[in-house]
Amino acid sequence: MTEKIYLDNSATTYVDPRVKREMDSYFNENYGNPGSFNSFGMKARAAVDESRDKVSKYLHCNSDEIIFTSGGTESNNLAIKGVLRELKKQGKDHIITTKVEHSSVLEVCKYLEKNEGFSVTYLDVDEFGLVSEGDVKEFIKDNTALVSVIYANNEIGTVNSISAIGKITREKGIYFHTDACQAAGYLNINVNDLNVDLMTLNGSKIYGPKGVGLLFVRKGVRIQPIIHGGGQEKGLRSGTENVPSIVGFAKALEICQEIKDSEIERLTLLRDKLIKNVLDNVNDVKLNGHSIKRLPFNVNFSFKDIEAESLILMLDENGICVSAGSACSSKSLDPSYVVLNLGVNKNYARGTIRISLGRNTTEKDIDNVIEVLPKLVNQIRSMHIKNVRN
Ligand SMILES: *Cc1c(COP(=O)(O)O)cnc(C)c1O
Repeated sequence: MTEKIYLDNSATTYVDPRVKREMDSYFNENYGNPGSFNSFGMKARAAVDESRDKVSKYLHCNSDEIIFTSGGTESNNLAIKGVLRELKKQGKDHIITTKVEHSSVLEVCKYLEKNEGFSVTYLDVDEFGLVSEGDVKEFIKDNTALVSVIYANNEIGTVNSISAIGKITREKGIYFHTDACQAAGYLNINVNDLNVDLMTLNGSKIYGPKGVGLLFVRKGVRIQPIIHGGGQEKGLRSGTENVPSIVGFAKALEICQEIKDSEIERLTLLRDKLIKNVLDNVNDVKLNGHSIKRLPFNVNFSFKDIEAESLILMLDENGICVSAGSACSSKSLDPSYVVLNLGVNKNYARGTIRISLGRNTTEKDIDNVIEVLPKLVNQIRSMHIKNVRN
């Protein structure tokens, strides 16, 4: 069989070789602790500082507004727990988020609701997965501490109007956090254009290393740490800095910025070719998400009367690797909560697959999917009918 086609770039990407090269010297040569006052430490400190400067340039913020973490999950935890626990002292104990957030936001909210007495409003989304600015405005109360809305959804690729929501929170004097892990490689991450006070990014979705991320915390926003210790990262993230990964993460973001425009153009064409062909050639299929306000690399279909697991397995046997919604939920057989929240019927929702394109996706790959996918769907459906008749 020919080489497998990887179409699961929303779960994680490969590490760009230029990123790997940049990281290389920080394992065996410049391996000092950035906190040490010797030449090894100094070199490591300089590498972290340079990475922080580089990243802050792309976010259009100051370098002291960047906190490096172990990834998207930790950054989301730090943003939400950090702000809420701090503002509780002022009687603010309410958060507004949405029903389609990544689990690292949703589960944090549920935890704080259950164990620490906070109240949470989970906003509905429309049939495309969009959050309405009007809803955000309507549900803000005197005790609201934070609004957290995902920038681009990891399952259906829907891109929210972060800037418009941020305008509302700013008028009301409420902090605004966005999870931009999926957006970082392709969309505007200028924190001033976006009107955000806190923003989460990670390395593993942008051709950087896994296990590294950052939280942008706007100057003046007071938050509490969730990890205590040596006081690194302005006391907000104790623990020896992950120097190679921080260096790699900054390099990955740099490459993304450089090739963003051409990649958006290239991937949008491939994405739309795939969508059009599948919708034209398969019966009873629905595209989830928005047709335009959509990540250039995301495709998400629901096929009626299909078990996603069977389809994913058969695609894999044919050399095509996709997934069912998020990587985190793909172990459970329940249909995705994101897709159900769009109002998609369960007959369809169970047959949901996400096809996420990437830097190494070629037109030939997409043509292959266009050829194979409809056949497999028909095959599964005809097997299903036979089973029912027997
Ligand atoms: C992957 C992802 C996360 C989690 O990031 P980790 O680095 O795996 O912890 C959070 N939010 C979104 C939108 C993601 O896609």
